[in-house]
Amino acid sequence: MTSVTTTHQDLLPLLKTHFGYDSFLPNQLAVIEDVLSKKDVLAIMPTGGGKSLCFQLPALAMEGTTIVVSPLIALMKDQVDVLRANGIVAAYYNSSQSPETQQEIFQQLKKGELKLFYVAPESLGSFGSIFKEIEISLFAIDEAHCISSWGHDFRPAYTQLGSLKERFPEIPVLALTATADKTTQDDIADQLAIPYAERHLASFNRPNLYLEVRPAQNRIKQIVDFIGHRPDESGIIYCLSRKNTEKIAERLRDSGFSAKAYHAGMSTQERTQTQEDFVNDRIPIIVATIAFGMGIDKSNVRWVIHYNLPKNVEGYYQEIGRSGRDGLPAHTLLFYSFGDVAQLRRFISESDNAEVEYAKLERMQQFAEALSCRRIALLNYFGENLTENCGNCDICNRPPKYFDGTLMTQKICSAVARLKESEPMGTVVDVLRGAQNANIYEKGLQSIKTYGAVKDVSWQDLQQYVIQLLNQGVLEINFREGSRIALTPLAKQILFERKKVQLAILVKEKPKTKRERRATIEKTELFEKLRALRYQIATKENVPAYVVFGDASLKDMEAKLPANEHEFLEVSGVGKAKLEKYAAVFLKAIAEHQASMKHETFAHK
Ligand code: ADP
Ligand code: MG
Repeated sequence: MTSVTTTHQDLLPLLKTHFGYDSFLPNQLAVIEDVLSKKDVLAIMPTGGGKSLCFQLPALAMEGTTIVVSPLIALMKDQVDVLRANGIVAAYYNSSQSPETQQEIFQQLKKGELKLFYVAPESLGSFGSIFKEIEISLFAIDEAHCISSWGHDFRPAYTQLGSLKERFPEIPVLALTATADKTTQDDIADQLAIPYAERHLASFNRPNLYLEVRPAQNRIKQIVDFIGHRPDESGIIYCLSRKNTEKIAERLRDSGFSAKAYHAGMSTQERTQTQEDFVNDRIPIIVATIAFGMGIDKSNVRWVIHYNLPKNVEGYYQEIGRSGRDGLPAHTLLFYSFGDVAQLRRFISESDNAEVEYAKLERMQQFAEALSCRRIALLNYFGENLTENCGNCDICNRPPKYFDGTLMTQKICSAVARLKESEPMGTVVDVLRGAQNANIYEKGLQSIKTYGAVKDVSWQDLQQYVIQLLNQGVLEINFREGSRIALTPLAKQILFERKKVQLAILVKEKPKTKRERRATIEKTELFEKLRALRYQIATKENVPAYVVFGDASLKDMEAKLPANEHEFLEVSGVGKAKLEKYAAVFLKAIAEHQASMKHETFAHK
């Protein structure tokens, strides 16, 4: 085996030639250098952080084959497609392949032709003796948290990986995951028997994701409006129940969008089909339960909407992390409602781990209710201290201003008191606004003293004030007792001791700020032409569009307007293989576009 003294300088040409990139993403180089010096490594990087490259590049720099253990066939297939498109010899193995294909792969492995070989943990057993015969450069364990029952995607077959180190003590093991919590990290190292592994923890910040939270009113209408502004963009809508995924997908189709539902109650075949339709850009919008996403490396998901509140911050971050993997702006939108909180609490009450889960849900609520930079709150949760406001969330865009809300608060608290602290938020708001509905009349609430005391404020706004008072600890919500709203000692000070209260002024949705506008990719004519060309090629080659080129590469072509092969190679994501395959067609499209533009200017003169 060659002794490896690869340096940063040697790696850059490899990075450019094979992957078309000019620089590393945070932590990639550090991980790669450790792997090349034969150390065991545990790499923790966020979704979209570029984990695959951490083993794909060393695989090319070292002699022998890198064995990649990956949990899902879809994941293996996508990565192998991408590698092949880059001219790298790679294969994956699974039990559903034909015996002929499997035999062929065995032969390739034996002859040492493969730089990378992907296999599911369930199939490892078939390779016990072959692995002893061939030269292996590295074991890469992708989605390594699957080995831990502490993690959220435990896969029993992963536990077999514990014996790899024992059987191949000389070969470095690289474990990769996006799971940040310390218990799971320790468990991964234990189970893989790599106690001395170097740990690399990349920042979890994803600055390109715009973070937004809105109250959950008229969600469907808001969603229709949101995606109406984003034609052709891929996005995912997460919701809590299977029934809702189907209902919402149907509503969206009725509104003229191309959307499909996805949940664990569908047949395997239906699910695979839906996933493929999404990955291949045939269906841009998926409405799914959290069952959707794990097997998807699609780089151009431009937005993620949470129709319901997720039950913890880990889940939320993982789900929004599926957007913007290509580093281009992506928009994430969370709808927040107390109804969801109440429902999640009901689910949790049946869990064995209820105490922990309640605490996690509370952290999720705090994030949704934040009145200061959301990214600071989010990264804090993962133990990172960001000190500057991010400038790319709804709060930074519209920082709250306050008014003297003492009188408003007194009215609200007085209504709660007169309702004997036994009614939920909706009824409190209805009473204050003097609503005339069945619930009010059945309970005779129209005769209480504060009925109609706040007529001039809209239902939504009044509800927001009540939520602010909950956050300030003036009111409390009793989830175990019909979500009734009650007063705290603080409320009594406000009612009887003239204590003052500040409330945040609610601002109406303003026209988009510069940053928000930047948060959606500008669609230009050329970009659309390049996209269409990419789609054509992808369909012909039967691969997902991003295997041909990611959105980031198309954007870069548009910015650089390459006119020859030399300039085409400068484009991010263009390496040697893609230069040979695609330079001609894309250069032609760009040149034609340029010519048509000139023509147009000419015609206008
Ligand atoms: P992860 O597995 O950590 O979620 P991936 O390995 O799927 O992330 O990479 C996410 C995206 O980042 C992919 O589109 C990949 O091509 C891109 N990428 C990886 N490394 C680089 C780099 N050095 N420069 C630019 N883009 C990169
Ligand atoms: Mg990955």
